Amino acid sequence: MLARGMDAAFVACINRSQEYIKSGKYTLLIEECNNLLSMDPNFYEAYYGRGEAYLRLGKYNEAYNDFNKVLQYSSSAEDKEAARKGLTKIENLSKPTEAEIKKLQERIPELKKVRERIAKYQVCVSAGDVYTVGLKTDGTVVATGRCNVRGWRYIIAIAAGDKHIVGLKADGTVVAAGSNKHDRCKVRGWRDIVAVAAGDEHTVGLKADGTVVAVGSNHFDQCNVSGWCDIVAITACGRHTIGLKANGRVVAVGYKGYFKYDRPCDVSDWRDIVAVATNNDYTVGLKVDGTVVATMKYNVSDWRDIVAIAAGLAHTVSLKADGTVVATGYEDNRCNVSGWRDIVAIAACGWHTIGLKSDGTVVAVGQNWARQCNVLKWRNIGPASEEQVLKWKQSLNWHAQGLCEYCGGKLSGLFIKKCLSCGKRIDVF
Ligand SMILES: [Zn+2]
Repeated sequence: MLARGMDAAFVACINRSQEYIKSGKYTLLIEECNNLLSMDPNFYEAYYGRGEAYLRLGKYNEAYNDFNKVLQYSSSAEDKEAARKGLTKIENLSKPTEAEIKKLQERIPELKKVRERIAKYQVCVSAGDVYTVGLKTDGTVVATGRCNVRGWRYIIAIAAGDKHIVGLKADGTVVAAGSNKHDRCKVRGWRDIVAVAAGDEHTVGLKADGTVVAVGSNHFDQCNVSGWCDIVAITACGRHTIGLKANGRVVAVGYKGYFKYDRPCDVSDWRDIVAVATNNDYTVGLKVDGTVVATMKYNVSDWRDIVAIAAGLAHTVSLKADGTVVATGYEDNRCNVSGWRDIVAIAACGWHTIGLKSDGTVVAVGQNWARQCNVLKWRNIGPASEEQVLKWKQSLNWHAQGLCEYCGGKLSGLFIKKCLSCGKRIDVF
């Protein structure tokens, strides 16, 4: 389709492109396609041409992005068919070969060890749409943005939603702060929770018995988790809730996708999954062999040695076993993570990317209009020791019984309480 009719400059550009295809001058072809797109951004065939050129130059991610644009925005069935073939070609090219699969299998025990080590760090950073949350080793929480988490104590895991933050306490109860629209913060009665997750307008809790509870907006069925069982991990972002089962299978509820080809909940054929991440229109799964699968959008089939994944609004991020990070997606600076080292946890949900370093500091790239990347001064982000968590649990139990949370002693006074054993003043408000 020639959208611009007989425009001379456009036609000249097309003619040059044809020449470059014939002569195999793909770098020049990319330039020509860029020209065409600057003249007519709706000329989707140019994305296809540029995609093919990138493919031949071995730039798979760029090619993948271009084919996706055709698939999502073009109204021509022929364009779409060609783009789909391009995507399949890239996926096949970057899939592990037979020989490589054997090597990947050998890496499984090592990757498992790394995943177990970083699991406790992964719950210490979380990214909301436009803010960032960090859990400190002393059980308190820091956050950019407006959610007030100042009084929180004894926290062992955090999750950031769109405008709310959720904290898991050492005794398996949950606290939440921020917008309570659709009752998304109604978690007061929750007990025996071992993990929390937060989507745009909902909150999810994994119970010790492998079942899942959810509150908040259920517009897209994202809270329909009452039938789930044998769940070992949960994730939520945007309008989805994803559950990882003990057998490595994945269950999903929520929004079915805006574009026909986004199928964020099409995860039922996934196998051997050890971690999941999701956003508004796609879902990513980490496999036991360190490779990654995704429902759509980004080419992640060439990723290897991965131990953690995160899903941004228009980018996908993963942490490698050696502590470096890779990212693909939207072309601003949110994917500029190639210089990161010693990373033990990652987070992404909106327009930015967060990395927790092994020394307890945090790095960030991406959009910063709400100061969501102002985390460079944060210190001591990370998990508390197991011993410490047990003490907190004890303190919370004493507190629940109306005793001194520091020593379990009896309290005197009505509004200004004081411990009769250790003498500490207890704030009851
Ligand atoms: Zn006391």
